Amino acid sequence: MISLTNTKHATPFEATEYHQFVCSRRKECKCACSIVAGPRGKATSQKLPRSFRINGKETLDGLDDEVLFLPAVKEAINSGWLRLTRVPKTQVEAKAKTEIKPEIKRS
Ligand SMILES: [Zn+2]
Repeated sequence: MISLTNTKHATPFEATEYHQFVCSRRKECKCACSIVAGPRGKATSQKLPRSFRINGKETLDGLDDEVLFLPAVKEAINSGWLRLTRVPKTQVEAKAKTEIKPEIKRS
């Protein structure tokens, strides 16, 4: 998991091509599909390629590591537009498991 922060005040960052780079890498599509009426009124699903936007001085959490393969994201990090924060996996798991505290008995 990664977080991206837009360091600029007035310039929102927007990345498209999510499907091309992220979905194909992870071999799992996270894009939204909408049901539209096709020819002869037959319902067909239409893929809406996922994209994301980070407004000025905002941070977007919980992004998949694969978004780093997006050319727009790479460029923005290199130029200092976006600040990358890696969220350690253990931290994510610890957050999710706050209620469960297994007791490890050592003898
Ligand atoms: Zn996709």
